[in-house]
Amino acid sequence: IKQLHAIVKPAQFRETSLIEKRKMASHIVGYPRMGPKRELKFALESFWDGKSSAEDLEKVATNLRASIWKQMSEAGIKYIPSNTFSYYDQVLDTTAMLGAVPERYSWTGGEIGLSTYFSMARGNATVPAMEMTKWFDTNYHFIVPELGPTIKFTYASHKAVSEYKEAKALGIDTVPVLVGPVSYLLLSKPAKGVDKSFPLLSLLGSILPIYKEVVAELKAAGASWIQFDEPTLVKDLDAHELAAFTSAYAELESELSGLNVLVETYFADLPAESYKTLTSLSGVTAYGFDLVRGAKTLDLVRSSFPSGKYLFAGVVDGRNIWADDLAASLSTLEALEAIVGKDKLVVSTSCSLMHTAVDLVNETKLDGEIKSWLAFAAQKVVEVNALAKALAGQRDEAYFAANAAAQASRRSSPRVTNEEVQKAAAALKGSDHRRTTNVSARLDAQQKKLNLPVLPTTTIGSFPQTMDLRRVRREYKAKKISEEEYTNAIKEEIRKVVKIQEELDIDVLVHGEPERNDMVEYFGEQLSGFAFTANGWVQSYGSRCVKPPIIYGDVSRPNPMTVFWSKTAQSMTSRPMKGMLTGPVTILNWSFVRNDQPRFETCYQIALAIKKEVEDLEAAGIQVIQIDEAALREGLPLRKSEHAFYLDWAVHSFRITNCGVQDTTQIHTHMCYSNFNDIIHSIIDMDADVITIENSRSDEKLLSVFREGVKYGAGIGPGVYDIHSPRIPSTEEIADRINKMLAVLDTNILWVNPDCGLKTRKYTEVKPALTNMVSATKLIRTQL
Ligand code: GLN
Ligand code: ZN
Repeated sequence: IKQLHAIVKPAQFRETSLIEKRKMASHIVGYPRMGPKRELKFALESFWDGKSSAEDLEKVATNLRASIWKQMSEAGIKYIPSNTFSYYDQVLDTTAMLGAVPERYSWTGGEIGLSTYFSMARGNATVPAMEMTKWFDTNYHFIVPELGPTIKFTYASHKAVSEYKEAKALGIDTVPVLVGPVSYLLLSKPAKGVDKSFPLLSLLGSILPIYKEVVAELKAAGASWIQFDEPTLVKDLDAHELAAFTSAYAELESELSGLNVLVETYFADLPAESYKTLTSLSGVTAYGFDLVRGAKTLDLVRSSFPSGKYLFAGVVDGRNIWADDLAASLSTLEALEAIVGKDKLVVSTSCSLMHTAVDLVNETKLDGEIKSWLAFAAQKVVEVNALAKALAGQRDEAYFAANAAAQASRRSSPRVTNEEVQKAAAALKGSDHRRTTNVSARLDAQQKKLNLPVLPTTTIGSFPQTMDLRRVRREYKAKKISEEEYTNAIKEEIRKVVKIQEELDIDVLVHGEPERNDMVEYFGEQLSGFAFTANGWVQSYGSRCVKPPIIYGDVSRPNPMTVFWSKTAQSMTSRPMKGMLTGPVTILNWSFVRNDQPRFETCYQIALAIKKEVEDLEAAGIQVIQIDEAALREGLPLRKSEHAFYLDWAVHSFRITNCGVQDTTQIHTHMCYSNFNDIIHSIIDMDADVITIENSRSDEKLLSVFREGVKYGAGIGPGVYDIHSPRIPSTEEIADRINKMLAVLDTNILWVNPDCGLKTRKYTEVKPALTNMVSATKLIRTQL
């Protein structure tokens, strides 16, 4: 049959004109599900609140899918994806497809419905949700499959097939997308009660029969292409893991015959061994590569590319908001075309467009020049098709000219380049930016001034953000209340937060961050070089979306950003008030970053801006300054070989912010995660005086970190309770936790604090929890 195909295909090509065939050699890896105005988010949340029915939700979803397919079809895209829609997450959809529902959800078989599905995603009254974790190095989170040796897989969600049919009914033939079987297993974890060393790949033989059923149904429904997403191929895999790919696709081969099979990879280039494995898979006819983050892909393709196979070239960036440099992409495509052959090259996106914003047309407030530099998902679809047409000799001259003009304006715009900032950043080279005195001596000097009790108590920064508070900020932004009214309202809030902390008898206070909507946006709005969108939302998990700022130019700080509030707060108390800043690495990692200079250069510029703020805070009499690096770990590259370089400039950027302060000024940093084992030396290299970290979920993991901390001598505040839960920890529980830490850590370096900021909690939770935290600390102080 395969041979027959090879003979039949070229004949088909001859029937239609070559140009006609090739003009549509365009493909989209995946598309945002939320809708241009977050329609799905609101439909989901209304359904979860019981305010609307399942039919209402399904209707919104159906309409969104239809409009996305139509949009791509009208743009001329040839390979339009289906099954990239999801009510929550595509990995959870795969779990549903395989019937891999953990026992605790008491699923009794049959097609998995919304209630079981959402219970897995979000938990229900009696059962907690499945774990969620970051999707590679993006800010998207997927639901981690929980697998074990006794699990019985059954075909329990026909979503892939029904979406294919749904598009077909609209007259659109799509490429159904499945999470590939090997990536699915490599992204899973052993279920509770299953040995941690359980070999997840041993389940391959049990899930492939389900994949076969799905493929058979898709074929019967008329599909001619299928896409398997196997992004784990870009990670560092061992020989055993690579062998799983070989055997999985060999096993699927007979079922796949008659179909064109695309294995899609993204987020980086492939290690050479993985590339070899991928391009040798049986039954596979096309490979998708991320040519934006995969700097070496071109070399790999040049070194060898199997003849007769398709290359899906991901030239249009799916993870950023910049308009593509079409001329540059076209020359990359032409180079590839020369290698793989004219009719085997398909223009694509670097990854699913779900990692970028949805549609630029809704940005009515963004100024025209900046807007001309941008392309969101809807515009990227058009770019992909324009490139495919150009390759086929049908270049849309006007479109290309407008693009070239926008690229040129971006390169030369005075809004992008700030000579002074460039010079200051260049001058950073050659110095390490380290404080001259070592941390123990600094802590001594600080203690003389601060006079803190042993086991000092503090919080991480934010206090509960009430509806009233959010309203005040909103009204001020909308110019409905005056600056004076706003300032007074925020001052009152700070006064309240200071009073609460004094009553609780906390040692180092915070002002509560009432003026901040978001820890990155607040700073971005006051720095030059940043722009903000009205609807540039990106899905983070489930119905949650984030709206990252856009860094388009050299970053500088025209005016102090936090000094007024910190000074005001300090004037209300005789206890030390922490200045509260977001660090450069976190601002960088939670923004859309410019692509016309290396990330580290942008990070150094932000570091210089934050440095000025640190110095102004110090000059204003603030003795303790916390610089949050919540997202430092998030930026860690996917491949180990690139970790050292990233950590080096990230940590350097942090040090730049505070290397100039006096010994007596205490620098804190805070990080929202506890898996430090692999990066502990970098954390120490940040050279902060006090490090507060999340800890409530994983005591043992931190032990090694503690030990390193002891050697280093900095203060350490591993969170003593979990702020993500509304549960109020008892005094005994917290005391017990502190005692466990004291078994490993010196009394004089331990700080007592919650896990993270209290922004999302209610006062009725925060007050008793902090009361217990302080009582537990006092109790232990008497026992020392
Ligand atoms: N200072 C911030 C707060 O308390 C830190 C938040 C974070 O680490 N994500 O809200
Ligand atoms: Zn945190």
